[in-house]
Amino acid sequence: MHSSDIIAIGAVILVALLYHYKNTILEIIFSDDSDISVEGGGGRDIAQVIRDNNKNYLVLYGTQTGTAEDYAKRFSKELVNKFGLNVLCVDVENYDFDTLNELPEDVIVSFFFSTYGEGEFPDGAIGFEQYLQNASMGSLSNIRFTLFGLGNSTYEFFNGASKKALEGLTAAGAIQVSAIGEADDANGTTDEDYLSWKENTFDKLKELLNLKESNDGFKPSYKINILDKMPTNASTGEPSKNYIDSSRIKYDSNGLQMGPFSESYPFLAPVKTSRELFNSNDRNCIHMEIDISGSNMNYSTGDHLGVLPSNSNENVESFINTFCLDPNMIFELNSIDSTMKLPFPTPTTVESAIRYYLEISGPISRAILSNLVEFAPDETTKLKLLKLSKDKKLFEKEVTSKKLNLCDILMVLSGKVKWGNVPFLFLIENIPHIQPRYYSISSSSNSEKTLVNITAVVEDMPNIETNINVTGVTTNLLRNIQLEQNKTDTTDARINNLNQHYDLDGPRSLYSNFKLPVFVRKSTFRLPANYQKPVIMIGPGTGVAPFRGFIRDRVYEVSNGKIPDLNSLGKHLLFYGSRNESDHLYQEEWPKYSSILNKKFEMIVCHSRIPNTKKVYVQDKLLEYSKEILQLLNDGGYIYICGDAKGMAKGVHASLVQILSQGKGISEEESNEILKAMKLSGTIQEDVW
Ligand code: FAD
Repeated sequence: MHSSDIIAIGAVILVALLYHYKNTILEIIFSDDSDISVEGGGGRDIAQVIRDNNKNYLVLYGTQTGTAEDYAKRFSKELVNKFGLNVLCVDVENYDFDTLNELPEDVIVSFFFSTYGEGEFPDGAIGFEQYLQNASMGSLSNIRFTLFGLGNSTYEFFNGASKKALEGLTAAGAIQVSAIGEADDANGTTDEDYLSWKENTFDKLKELLNLKESNDGFKPSYKINILDKMPTNASTGEPSKNYIDSSRIKYDSNGLQMGPFSESYPFLAPVKTSRELFNSNDRNCIHMEIDISGSNMNYSTGDHLGVLPSNSNENVESFINTFCLDPNMIFELNSIDSTMKLPFPTPTTVESAIRYYLEISGPISRAILSNLVEFAPDETTKLKLLKLSKDKKLFEKEVTSKKLNLCDILMVLSGKVKWGNVPFLFLIENIPHIQPRYYSISSSSNSEKTLVNITAVVEDMPNIETNINVTGVTTNLLRNIQLEQNKTDTTDARINNLNQHYDLDGPRSLYSNFKLPVFVRKSTFRLPANYQKPVIMIGPGTGVAPFRGFIRDRVYEVSNGKIPDLNSLGKHLLFYGSRNESDHLYQEEWPKYSSILNKKFEMIVCHSRIPNTKKVYVQDKLLEYSKEILQLLNDGGYIYICGDAKGMAKGVHASLVQILSQGKGISEEESNEILKAMKLSGTIQEDVW
């Protein structure tokens, strides 16, 4: 053999090894919080980790936005507290499963999978999906499992990932021990779906494993250690340890900060400009241009921007008051069980943990109320809490429909008596970790290579029943930035009148001069590569965001000779809807695009809240244009839908079914089949939330 052959074979083996161990290698190279990532106690061999750590139950999750992880952890915590099981709860991304069938006989596996896009597994679970696809019949015959899926029934392939997992597991001979749970976010019932699945699953597990239920109350998974001095390397809410010790930040030869950037290592991007898009007294929508030129991060038109928020001063204060916490207390956490990952970096202060790491103001679960019973400040409150936590209908009436957050409801129940008995560790372990919010990028990666635009409607609704405004964490932060960045004097009444104020300087003043921790999440929402194909875009409200990017892409291509003959460009038809003229997004821009793209770009606009006028929605306009739509589809057209998943996407689907059935003289079932096939082939693409 020639030496060159040996080198070539060596290179192939090296590439194969690098590929095989890519996650581990990436973790080693890029892990910024290695000392908190004790999860799994080391190693990728799942059976080995179970044996080494004396575990007798395995919970595996695949998560895209963190919800599946939250539920997997809640489930694990209950298995430990209620039944004294010794649980390993881990992300499938971090393990190999070749030895899954070699788990000790009595170990049951509970899977939690969220579904992403068109029935896909979350990015981190793709390896597990492939493993199941390749698993031979009978190769998992020792495995007994339960499965909980998190999905949204607006999507064609509702809970597609968990259904595929069920199919793969049963085909490989694994034995299902309780009915699959299918949470439906479209109905807003994820939590109740989980609770009923859990009850049924616990009953089966009790029978199968002969479990005895104990009610010893809260058992912490961590030890808390109070410090009297803040160590220099302590966390003050930094989204990554790299921002505590800047020597860990790597730059390329052009001086650009190197990624990969993610929610655990976002780029602190300057907000170059921001402006209000609505011309309304009671609603706001923020256009923001975020500069990523200092990083090696890039994006493509149609991608999403992840923004890592922090909680408002008002919400932090209310939380501290409700639970009588000392905001300045410095503490560190240590895992009691070496396989438990720390929820956030410590040492840190109570205030930093609340502001930057805990999701303190969103909707709450009935389960947290039942866990809080033991800490109620008095007997009367205890009884009220117990009743509320057990009665699904009462909870819906008193909490969910009133949109109360944890502090709101606890203070209502106790008649404003504080909840000083609740251990801080309980709050850390029972309140979900703050998650990034995603925004469909509204710029074009051709014309704005390093300036990511987002278009975010501010969530701030008066709650007539409670007199407390229901606010969104991130969008109010964006509005604060927009107002501060554009204020002309220090006494801008709009800033003082805001319901929510934020610490815009952030931990260690890292966010000063208007910076936001962001990262790009790749999507598959893409214009057809062949510009001659017609394009039908349906995007009311902020659903228009990616279509602004699409049209700017086409404008760039035409203006820069990439599309030499405008006549060859396919027709681009945009259906847009807003309440009225005051919230008509980017009103001044569209005519400019039309003048460059000429008749190749047409926008059909409707409004749903003009006094004394019939409400018209995009789905109505689609029906009006059914002839043209059919023609464009016959010419090989693509359909893109973006925006509200609950009302709009379902309405649009119904209109498309009607257009196809009537236009082609076929049944509704046949039209549904055509639309399904178009989704599978990518000629219909959805970006709905
Ligand atoms: P959150 O704090 O997450 O609150 C969410 C909602 O719950 C709000 O309406 C809030 O008022 C309400 N709420 C708050 N507290 C409670 C409570 N206690 N009980 C009940 N309800 C409560 N949005 C856009 O504006 N533009 C986009 O381009 C866009 N693109 C997206 C793309 C993707 C892929 C996804 C997944 C979402 C997208 N979104 C977009 C939605 C966006 O990610 C956020 O969900 C939205 O901006 C609200 O975030 P927030 O942090 O302000 O609100």
